[in-house]
Amino acid sequence: MVDGLAAGLEAAWQTLLNRVAAEIRETGAVTGCPALSAPVRQALATVPRHRFVADEQRGWAYADMPLPIGRGQTISQPFIVALMTELLALDPAMTILEIGAGSGYQTAVLAQLARQVYSVERIPELAEAAAQRWREMGIENVAIRVGDGGQGWEEYAPFDGIMVTAAATDVPPALVRQLKPGGRLVIPVGEPGYTQDLRVIHKDPQGVVFSRSALPVVFVPLIQDRD
Ligand code: SAH
Repeated sequence: MVDGLAAGLEAAWQTLLNRVAAEIRETGAVTGCPALSAPVRQALATVPRHRFVADEQRGWAYADMPLPIGRGQTISQPFIVALMTELLALDPAMTILEIGAGSGYQTAVLAQLARQVYSVERIPELAEAAAQRWREMGIENVAIRVGDGGQGWEEYAPFDGIMVTAAATDVPPALVRQLKPGGRLVIPVGEPGYTQDLRVIHKDPQGVVFSRSALPVVFVPLIQDRD
């Protein structure tokens, strides 16, 4: 636990983790992810989700649902956080790019499993609040910039994996370019307001790109400069 949980919260979190594990198993045939792995489960158990939501939402922090985080944005449902994290197939040496830091929760989970996480968030207040939370929790292997994540983060590219936590109508070409051969890009693709398609885009060692659909999902839109 990053900061220790009260006993009641700890019990609620274990119940939630068991539920997430069951959902991962039940959707395994579709997602290609058969089970919640021990490292991802450990990362989820380590990051206190209640610290990433407003006081009024804290009672719901260990329910398997998305919650509002202000500015019309949401922190993703724990099952989706777990699934997207699994789909990246992380290892501790990896450098990851995340688009859409929001509350900073998913970033903090990635930071438990990767060497370094770079995150891009377009709303300055959310970026500042996320960075403040990471500081308070002693999470140091994360950097954030405010801007359009559709452009990626050229300075630190290429990345071993990229996760986008907002729905894009098309896969931003800059993100595919900034992915290392052998790397994966996990991104919801589709029109906002409808169900989107959670895609796993794999760049093979020769640089050939393959895409598959993992699950129908619902995300807030990725708002690009051209919009
Ligand atoms: N992963 C977050 C939830 C993200 S909600 C969490 O764990 O809390 C989606 C986020 O994407 C929002 O914060 C939104 O402001 C951000 N976003 C939308 N379009 C963006 C863009 N073009 N570049 C960067 N961030 C963007």
